Amino acid sequence: MADEGPQCGKPDFVLLDQVTMEDFMENLKLRFKKDHIYTYIGEVLVSVNPYQELPLYGPEAIARYQGRELYERPPHLYAVANAAYRAMKLRSRDTCIVISGESGAGKTEASKHIMQYIAAVTNPSQKAEVERVKDVLLKSTCVLEAFGNARTNRNHNSSRFGKYMDINFDFKGDPVGGHIHSYLLEKSRVLKQHVGERNFHAFYQVLWGCDDKELQELHLQRNPALYNLTRQGAGLSASDSDERSHHQAVTEAMRVIGFSPEEVGSVYRILAAILHLGNMEFVETEAGGLEQGHLAVAEEVLVNHVAELTATPRKLLLRSLLARTVASGGRELIEKGHSAAEASYARDACAKAVYQRLFEWVVDRINGVMEARGRDPRRHGKDTVIGVLDIYGFEVFPVNSFEQFCINYCNEKLQQLFIQLILKQEQEEYEREGIAWQSVEYFNNATIVDLVERPHRGILAVLDDACSAAGTITDRIFLQTLDTHHRHHPHYASRQLCPTDKTMQFGRDFRIKHYAGDVTYSVEGFIDKNRDSLFQDFKRLLYNSTDPTLRAMWPDGQQDITEVTKRPLTAGTLFKNSMVALVENLASKEPFYVRCIKPNEDKVAAKLDEGHCRHQVVYLGLLENVRVRRAGFASRQPYSRFLLRYKMTCEYTWPNHLLGSDKAAVSALLEQHGLQGDVAFGHSKLFIRSPQSLVTLEQSRARLIPIIVLLLQKAWRGTLARWHCRQLRAIYTIMRWFRRHKVCAHLAELQRRFQAARQPPLYGRDLIWPLPPAVLQPFQDTCRALFCRWRAWQLVKNIPPSDMAQIKAKVAAMGVLQELRPDWGCHRAWTQDYLSSGSACLLRPPTIPQPRTCLLSD
Ligand code: ADP
Ligand code: MG
Repeated sequence: MADEGPQCGKPDFVLLDQVTMEDFMENLKLRFKKDHIYTYIGEVLVSVNPYQELPLYGPEAIARYQGRELYERPPHLYAVANAAYRAMKLRSRDTCIVISGESGAGKTEASKHIMQYIAAVTNPSQKAEVERVKDVLLKSTCVLEAFGNARTNRNHNSSRFGKYMDINFDFKGDPVGGHIHSYLLEKSRVLKQHVGERNFHAFYQVLWGCDDKELQELHLQRNPALYNLTRQGAGLSASDSDERSHHQAVTEAMRVIGFSPEEVGSVYRILAAILHLGNMEFVETEAGGLEQGHLAVAEEVLVNHVAELTATPRKLLLRSLLARTVASGGRELIEKGHSAAEASYARDACAKAVYQRLFEWVVDRINGVMEARGRDPRRHGKDTVIGVLDIYGFEVFPVNSFEQFCINYCNEKLQQLFIQLILKQEQEEYEREGIAWQSVEYFNNATIVDLVERPHRGILAVLDDACSAAGTITDRIFLQTLDTHHRHHPHYASRQLCPTDKTMQFGRDFRIKHYAGDVTYSVEGFIDKNRDSLFQDFKRLLYNSTDPTLRAMWPDGQQDITEVTKRPLTAGTLFKNSMVALVENLASKEPFYVRCIKPNEDKVAAKLDEGHCRHQVVYLGLLENVRVRRAGFASRQPYSRFLLRYKMTCEYTWPNHLLGSDKAAVSALLEQHGLQGDVAFGHSKLFIRSPQSLVTLEQSRARLIPIIVLLLQKAWRGTLARWHCRQLRAIYTIMRWFRRHKVCAHLAELQRRFQAARQPPLYGRDLIWPLPPAVLQPFQDTCRALFCRWRAWQLVKNIPPSDMAQIKAKVAAMGVLQELRPDWGCHRAWTQDYLSSGSACLLRPPTIPQPRTCLLSD
């Protein structure tokens, strides 16, 4: 918190003088005004969307937070990302970062900053495989936003699906893979959008971004107003060039991730097919080229386009559009023609389903790339995981339907998790550890979750019952059943139950008092959206497409209508199951929370609408959070873990203590630091009240670390030097013995040759001296000289003294003549037996002496 003066407000709401809504809002406003958009509540980060680019991000900022403790720097998303990363790396804990807040509060932006931080601090050794995984992780956001985000009235880049991304790390803390779970794409948006809203970005990007040739191939024109599905949002694009650059970015991102050009082509063809499908109208006619029974497609050419783009036979496509196959009795199949309304319904269901499958296929494809090569099967141990949850925020529209119901239910579940983990668990832990504690009251939304998901009577169960009743139950009857079941529920209301409440329409609306506010839902379309059925004919048709990408999206199309007996799970049940699994998954991890606040509804910078923010502070339970945190403790850790981290700061505990128990050792340590007044001793854990105490401990630890590092370095260097010395000694010993062996071997060889060659009459004249090792060269020279003298003596000693004078004269003559008469024959080879070969020898020309090396006579 070094960079923050008192003029910027309190960096942690826990430090407020009084915990009241006024003080909370005052601090929030002050900090927002000074562009400090982040504030802590203990370890929970509160973030206010600035709606402007602030100089808070980038490599320099990342470097400031890297490896630091949460409280060492001003509050920031990077600090939370770093805390999650450190918990994962140092303690091998699976962690998750749950980002919540209403639509437009900045959740997706926050998740992107977290990903950027993780990407920046990992893989210092630049391993190619890890770089690839990081690239895919970062680029996947861009692709998913194109297909899953849309402009809404609350947010111009609103995520219309929930996203939970797991990043797997190896033991070194480098990302080696990942997995994206997507939740309930709002596919009804493909067909219909509210006024001022748009369809998914991908449609506009194709229309504005593809070049003329590509558009021609897709049979499209560069005008969203020409297509029913994009007409509503046609005038709402930021600018053509923006759409174009987004289109290029998405295409490039798909390439980097590993989509093949054929796959990218298929994706654009499918989008185009959906646009054409949206324009298709049906007319009831007596006769006509495209008729099936008495129904026909108004514009024939659209059928051709869709058939071409989906690579399906035109005839089969037409049949699927105009009729459906039904199994009557046993296995007999009959074709039943649609009415115009039925055909339109089937067409719409088809367009929605194709888009949904496309989206799911994109997610699966990204997952395939991240998982397939991300894991090294030879690696031991388990991966640790950081999960990042960016899921749709609480939503209230003028008319709320099944999607909003699911989204808000999801938020209830997450709030429940927050209560479990942050409020309830914390208080329970104090009780368990025997810490004196005064309970803090908070609103527990378990009853609302129960209203939705309770077996048999919950809203989802009643809806499922309505769906399974084969078309006899209408939305209105469903509403009546809800009324009967929940007439006394404090969080449920409808016009029938409160006839005076004019804000709800009779027979259409019901209201749930959510933790975040009241939402009135219109039951119209609930049953239909929950049943989410698509005729098997379409599935079969698309499964039989010759485009392998499209075919891969419809594996269930291979079933025959007679085989499809089991009723598929409804959309609501699937969503509920995925939420239960998600919450279980999150609860098993160490959670970090980012609570996002939207400052105003106008999406403008530097404007904080107090009423709006106050409402969010209330429903996010932030004030209760502060109270629990304040009455509670900033940190708690088992004694052993505390000692492991801080034992070097006290002479009694370093390197090991002799105080009987860890608790006593911790007590001695804290006494030395004068912190005993700020802690409470639980049965197995130490509770530290204020973050400042932690900072004090951290600082004194940081002061000692360099000394300990030096000590370790010293010991290690000593060990290395000793190893080196031992190696050298071994080398010298080996060398000594080897030399000795060489000398002995040489002498033995010399002796052997000498013994063999020294016999008379030659006295070793032809002795070949072995090549000596370098060390024996002088010895060998001396030896040779001695040998020459000995041999000379052996020859000379038998000459009578009378001949000596003549011999000396001959030797003198030899010395004199050698220079003048090189051919006098002195160097001729000695052929020994001259008498026996006398005559032959006379006839033969004199042999030319061959040079001989190492001969004593030479
Ligand atoms: P949510 O996912 O909660 O619906 P987004 O993350 O999409 O909201 O944010 C909505 C808009 O708010 C973004 O498009 C961006 O313009 C702006 N915004 C959000 N967070 C920031 C931030 N930290 N800095 C600058 N602008 C932001
Ligand atoms: Mg979002």
